[in-house]
Amino acid sequence: MKIVVSACLLGENCKYNGGNNRCEAVLDFVKNHEVIAVCPEQMGGLSTPRQPAELVNGVATSVDGICVDNAFRKGAQMAADLALKEGAEMAILQPRSPSCGSKQIYDGTFSKRLISGQGVFARMLSELNIRTLEPEDLPSEDLERT
Ligand code: SF4
Repeated sequence: MKIVVSACLLGENCKYNGGNNRCEAVLDFVKNHEVIAVCPEQMGGLSTPRQPAELVNGVATSVDGICVDNAFRKGAQMAADLALKEGAEMAILQPRSPSCGSKQIYDGTFSKRLISGQGVFARMLSELNIRTLEPEDLPSEDLERT
């Protein structure tokens, strides 16, 4: 199976602060599958490290008030196009990210408050009917049935 994975979950240092979110459970889960690693924010042209951003009224905005929405949407579109072209069946995405979060995101006030919602990339994948999961969802998954 082809699986899109947030690159930071695989240990790539593409996170806003130059670090990663390496997750052994994800690495273990995907080891017998074809991985399509993407970082939509980098693909959109944003540098690493970069200012943290949140969706403020739906618009990706960095903590210093700069609109980065074009870069977010461009990168998300590029990553979604790649997922479609490769025939990805599912995606494992980093929680809470304004790009990759698939269940909750920060509320746009930069005060660490979470709300229900999806990041820009996660929403695009959902609209393409590509199933999105977070690492915490993995243990209950039965890939033989998917
Ligand atoms: S955009 Fe996604 S892949 Fe890139 S650092 Fe943020 S959560 Fe990770």
